[in-house]
Amino acid sequence: MVNNEARTLRCPRDGGQLHTEKHDAIEVDACPTCRGAWYDFGELSQLEATVTHDEASLAGMLEYSKRDSELKCPMCAKTMVAFDYRAHAVELDACPDEHGFWLDAGESERVRQIMQERVGDMRRSAEAQARWDRDRESGFKGGGIIDRIRELFTGRR
Ligand SMILES: [Zn+2]
Ligand SMILES: [Zn+2]
Repeated sequence: MVNNEARTLRCPRDGGQLHTEKHDAIEVDACPTCRGAWYDFGELSQLEATVTHDEASLAGMLEYSKRDSELKCPMCAKTMVAFDYRAHAVELDACPDEHGFWLDAGESERVRQIMQERVGDMRRSAEAQARWDRDRESGFKGGGIIDRIRELFTGRR
């Protein structure tokens, strides 16, 4: 929760009362019945930030294939928007008025896994780029065709 005002939220799945709990050091409103949890808007990025602060990994679109959710926002009761989290097979629900996100049981773990994979991918592509730059540099050093032609004309080695 961002603010401390008392509120009673109901689970959008089973109507049970949500309880404030700490998940990954983030205060969420969790359902004791289905183990889903409500993340206030901004807390989803906090969840991602528990894995990495790497801007490249955190950048990019979050909400793919948006469609109407079967769930209603626990704060304003509007029909939520279901989407594929970062184009993975993890369906999250968001309030269209940006009140927050609903994560079913296990989905916060999936979000953290996906962020870990993204960090790994970014690191690998950064390493590949560095390797490519290194190869290109050594390829040009004396061995390049331009250098050889230049040597022919100038006699310089
Ligand atoms: Zn529930
Ligand atoms: Zn809402």
